Amino acid sequence: MMGMEAAVIPSPHMFLGSHDADTVLLLWERFLTMEANTATTLGYEAFASLSVPFFGVNHRDAETCLARLPDFLAHERVVAIGEIGLDCATDFEIELFREHLRLAKAHDLPVILHTPIRLAPQGAAVTPKILEIIEDEGFPVERCVFDHAGEETLDFRMGTGAMVGLSICWDKMPPEVAARYVADNPDRRARVMVNSELGGQGNDYFMVPRVMLAMRLMGLDKETIDKVCWRTPKEFFGLPIV
Ligand SMILES: [Zn+2]
Repeated sequence: MMGMEAAVIPSPHMFLGSHDADTVLLLWERFLTMEANTATTLGYEAFASLSVPFFGVNHRDAETCLARLPDFLAHERVVAIGEIGLDCATDFEIELFREHLRLAKAHDLPVILHTPIRLAPQGAAVTPKILEIIEDEGFPVERCVFDHAGEETLDFRMGTGAMVGLSICWDKMPPEVAARYVADNPDRRARVMVNSELGGQGNDYFMVPRVMLAMRLMGLDKETIDKVCWRTPKEFFGLPIV
């Protein structure tokens, strides 16, 4: 109905209600079986980005999941690793982030970065630390999406050379703010992705279409709208879709 052709579904960085490896492995399996099949039933193609959540799984089980992750990465529907990254920059988050980056490098996959969200007070301090670790691990920054952008850290994110995800949802960026950013920054559009939080935690399923509508009302042309919502992510993740 909304013109959606494909989606990349990332593993959440926070997986409350789960404390063990089995639940995470089931989640990955669900992405690659039920979600992929249901998507086809509904008329779009679903791909997955996998990672071990950094909240909600104990350290030992996180190790178990990391050891199993390479098997899952070989699946044709897996197009990235993520969400990975930092939220509060605890020692555990940092170690897990480094492990994920090493796996992404070894498997030649792009990564989706969870970063402190728009209103998180630690954003200004933690977001640069994410870049520091990426550089320290020798991971190509242009293969990263700095997701959950907020106005406060947008300039920094744009300056990294990475892609910038706007994450449209109630606790992140509102649709009109995202549309305004695309309208006002033609020189930055090539590295903007308009994405959403799917329908999780009471979010609106139609956030990307809302941004598309707002962009139309602001007078942006079809090609620009198509670029930030479809062509850029399709190319970045190398989706096998014509
Ligand atoms: Zn996140």
